[in-house]
Amino acid sequence: MRTGQCHCGAVRYALEGEPMHHTLCHCSDCRRHAGAPMVGWAMFKSDQVKLGQGEPKVYESSETGRRHFCADCGTSLFYTNEAMLPGITDIQSATLDDSDALPPSAHIQVADRIAWMKDVHLLPEFARYPGQ
Ligand SMILES: [Zn+2]
Ligand SMILES: [Zn+2]
Repeated sequence: MRTGQCHCGAVRYALEGEPMHHTLCHCSDCRRHAGAPMVGWAMFKSDQVKLGQGEPKVYESSETGRRHFCADCGTSLFYTNEAMLPGITDIQSATLDDSDALPPSAHIQVADRIAWMKDVHLLPEFARYPGQ
């Protein structure tokens, strides 16, 4: 069973079985809510998602979209939309305890992508910081 949590650990969750898919979303709503250039989402049926402890706060990010986050540390955790995705919970995959174990399979919403994100794999890399 996969597990994950917010940054402070107040909210923990577990996931039964496999996701329908795992994608990297470039839409402007995800970017702004996460404060990050893209967001990984693993899509599960809501009954596969078990809250271990804590209760996320729910933000109405659109008419029917709901973003669930830790009210203590602010980490974004889940997305639900009962109008468009009934019975589905998207898990913000970077909150998994073992993110390496669930690689994504596609980029989505690239129509919204920040232009320079297309070539970020070409940037120089440092194991920690430059000069170390
Ligand atoms: Zn937290
Ligand atoms: Zn998105």
